[in-house]
Amino acid sequence: LASTPLVISGLRKQYGGGFVAVRDLSFRVEPGQVLGLLGPNGAGKTTTLRMLMGLITPTAGEIRVFGHRITPGAPVLSRIGSFVEGSGFLPHLSGQANLELYWAATGRPAEKAHFTEALEIAGLGDAVHRRVKTYSQGMRQRLAIAQAMLGLPELMVLDEPTNGLDPPQIHQMREVLQRYAATGRTVVVSSHLLAEVEQTCTHVVVMHRGTLVAAGEVGELAAASGEATFRVDDP
Ligand code: ATP
Repeated sequence: LASTPLVISGLRKQYGGGFVAVRDLSFRVEPGQVLGLLGPNGAGKTTTLRMLMGLITPTAGEIRVFGHRITPGAPVLSRIGSFVEGSGFLPHLSGQANLELYWAATGRPAEKAHFTEALEIAGLGDAVHRRVKTYSQGMRQRLAIAQAMLGLPELMVLDEPTNGLDPPQIHQMREVLQRYAATGRTVVVSSHLLAEVEQTCTHVVVMHRGTLVAAGEVGELAAASGEATFRVDDP
């Protein structure tokens, strides 16, 4: 279906050494959902998201975004905004100047209204005019999110955006995702914390050792998940 933001079918990733990080993974995400990809370290979340961003190729299976198959360099990748930790910003420039440089480098038209909305959603306030070197890690992370949101992509993909943040910063990050979702766009976000997924997401896919072990609405999972929770926390 062309309008479905994400359909993953029979996805598998085997790394060079023979290690299978993702196996037989299938799920779909409908418009406006905030999907949490939940699982402990090593579950295969990052591998899955990197395939979704077109950074690595699946060994088998496929990923379709708005009906288009993801391959490296596929045009549909421009409809995905992706946040990966550790975006390099120029520390002596303001947050806003960094974003303007980035946006100019993408060669896309200056959709100024979108630009302003993305900054508002990221909630940096007047700090966008300050040099990035004065930013806390939480602010840097939200600047990276703002960068991913410029152009207001229809699908946002975030790999552990709360990693390394303290509780107030985590709270702010959650508000950013909720504001983005409130625009009706679709979000896929990974986490290893069930509580975080419960508070931020509408739907969840639980992964463990490369496979899907549970999926559904967040409310359903919380009700039925004694077992899944146990498996998630199991090292
Ligand atoms: P984390 O939260 O630690 O990122 P994750 O759920 O995102 O965990 P992945 O990063 O996808 O998990 O890793 C899944 C497994 O694949 C891990 O055991 C990891 O060691 C392995 N792996 C990841 N990248 C490679 C690679 N390039 N070559 C070989 N194995 C890899």
